[in-house]
Amino acid sequence: MEKLKASRATLFGWFASYVLLGHLGIQFTPFPGSWLSLIWLPSGIGMIMVWLYGNRVIPVLYAASFLVNAPYILTSPKGAAFASLVVAAILVPGIDTLQSTLANVAWRKRPSLKGVWITTDLLYFLGAIAFASALTCWLLVLVDSAFVTGFERTLPREFIERVVMLTLTDAHGMFLVVPAMWTFQKYWHSDRKQLLQLFTLPLLLIPILLGTILPILITLLLPLVVFFIVRFRFLASAWSMMLIGVSTAILTAYGYSPLPLGSGSMAFVQWCMLVVTVGTPIQLLGVTLEDNFLQQRELEDRVANRTQELSTALKAMESMALTDGLTGLWNRRQMQRTIETEAKRMQRTGQPVCLLSLDLDHFKAINDNSGHRAGDDVLESVSSVIRGLSNGAYASRWGGEEFLVLLPGLSLAEAVDHAERIREVVARSSFWFGGRVTVSIGVSQLQADEAIAGWLERTDGALYRAKRKGRNRVEVDTLQDL
Ligand code: GH3
Ligand code: MG
Ligand code: MG
Repeated sequence: MEKLKASRATLFGWFASYVLLGHLGIQFTPFPGSWLSLIWLPSGIGMIMVWLYGNRVIPVLYAASFLVNAPYILTSPKGAAFASLVVAAILVPGIDTLQSTLANVAWRKRPSLKGVWITTDLLYFLGAIAFASALTCWLLVLVDSAFVTGFERTLPREFIERVVMLTLTDAHGMFLVVPAMWTFQKYWHSDRKQLLQLFTLPLLLIPILLGTILPILITLLLPLVVFFIVRFRFLASAWSMMLIGVSTAILTAYGYSPLPLGSGSMAFVQWCMLVVTVGTPIQLLGVTLEDNFLQQRELEDRVANRTQELSTALKAMESMALTDGLTGLWNRRQMQRTIETEAKRMQRTGQPVCLLSLDLDHFKAINDNSGHRAGDDVLESVSSVIRGLSNGAYASRWGGEEFLVLLPGLSLAEAVDHAERIREVVARSSFWFGGRVTVSIGVSQLQADEAIAGWLERTDGALYRAKRKGRNRVEVDTLQDL
């Protein structure tokens, strides 16, 4: 189970609600002829408190139970000596506290401790509250018989009846309160807006009140509850049960039960059983839908993350497939594709497009004299120069120490200027290996209806002429008039 936040300030809230709900229970749903209450929500509050705060909350729990029980025990009209009433008033809160602790320990021993309730968690919860209530309620009745009512006035049948009744009251208090408080706490700390849905639940009171006039109308509860649960899942099932349980308990206590439940303790036993038997499948539905919902969301999150990872990887691979690993410039394949599309586009629009073919001069010597790493460094540095100057142009490493730069929209004269700029900057640059580096560049402009292969050949021809003429220079294809 997810550990929720538990602050000192909220501890006082829990303490106050324990005392308040205890008194309201005894005042509004008294069991005839007894200080026992038809509805005992403090058992659930106590269980939640131990769950939230651990064993250190035990003195607080004892004090809360004392404040609820002692006034009624000490003023019992059954004629027991005051001293024995005091003993009962001291013992009863201890038993209540023991019950909350036991219920919590049994609940927390569940095999799966996940952040959500799953179907088996619900069964485990039912077992825990039944176990803790059954184990402590006979102690409560024993204390009541020994110190308040008097054994001689308690028939064995009555004793057993009281144990069964109290066990049901306490288990059913936990059955109603714990899921409600659990969902409330969970959404309070995770998604507070969800709690606004609770404002629609009082609609459930309509069929309940109609049922007090015409009992069959209480069946209208079913579609309404199912509708809420389908919409709001566990939050709806937990709070529907809380609302239905409490309102019908009050109506039963005042004789307005919408259901024909007989009278006296039998009415009470039947009512409690009804709440638990009808409530269990309702909670089951809520828990199952919540579980499915969370699993689906987790799955969606996982798919979204995976898709994100894949698209990032795909982008990286795309860029790897298009660029040269050493220099970061476009690779030959990407440049070839671009030359084809740009050439077509420029011929269609009649705009000029030029090509530069660059080759490092005596590059082999750099490799031979200063090592391959020096050669790589030169390639990277020259690439930076080409990239830095190629504003709006496309630059690529065509192979080895040869580069192609495509200049769409530039006239031949502008392209020669561009080539001169690159040549000059490279010639002025200093390099890690300490020497100087120069480039030879061939320039040509695409002719109307010229094939790409022929254009590349003409550009190469200009480059070789630059080499022949002494390197570190720019040569234009001879077909062109500058
Ligand atoms: P020229 O001025 O005539 O172009 O002379 P060159 O030495 O530059 O030309 P050549 O074609 O004889 O040598 C090119 C050298 O470039 C040979 C090869 O080892 C080297 N080279 C090609 N690719 C790489 C690379 O990725 N890294 C390094 N360090 N060297 C490379
Ligand atoms: Mg070379
Ligand atoms: Mg070469």
